Amino acid sequence: MKYKLEPYHRNVPDEDLISDLIEVKEKLGKDKITREEYNNFGKYSAGTMGRKFGTWNKALQKAGIELSNKWDISEEELFKNIEEVWIKLGRQPRYSEFKQPLSKYSSKPYERKYGSWLKALQKFVDFINSESEDNEFDDLVEVQQEENLKEVIKHKTKRNISDRLRFRILMRDGFTCKSCGRSPVKERGVELHVDHILPWSKGGETVPENLETKCKKCNLGKGNAFNV
Ligand SMILES: [Zn+2]
Repeated sequence: MKYKLEPYHRNVPDEDLISDLIEVKEKLGKDKITREEYNNFGKYSAGTMGRKFGTWNKALQKAGIELSNKWDISEEELFKNIEEVWIKLGRQPRYSEFKQPLSKYSSKPYERKYGSWLKALQKFVDFINSESEDNEFDDLVEVQQEENLKEVIKHKTKRNISDRLRFRILMRDGFTCKSCGRSPVKERGVELHVDHILPWSKGGETVPENLETKCKKCNLGKGNAFNV
């Protein structure tokens, strides 16, 4: 019989152990994790947890895992995550792509909440396509330009582009930079921005006709400090 040496992490701070427990739990998308699962996916071992916190269950308790019997990730949070993954890929994400580091959550919480992965995606697309009043003002806002000119621009929309509107513009533009044609689909790590064509500071409104997709490089190269 061979003696199997277990790595002994005597000096790991409690917070590190706890945060790794939570990380594994989230990675697996489960309410609870077993000792075996932790040994397979964790940075440390279940034995180390037991030694540090008394028992394995006490370690779970300390991480708040035993208490979380239901998924309380909000729809907003789940949709925001789909959106981020979708933008990074520049296309519809696949079931198997829902894992870290690309996605914050696994596909599990989506299946749990919506019944299936496809239903979750459908809900998300419905949400994106639904009309939003996010960018409308109740009152007109006056923006004062350079002091000497005392020129006042009246806006009908807010400067800020809502997440939903941004995503719609990215979809419309096929996740491709309108200036140079780069896209995360063809090239990894291309970061896409949505920006005003006529700058908001010059009277441009936050409406689809005045918004376009640009890669980070082209967008920053524009050199209009007021163009947000
Ligand atoms: Zn570009």
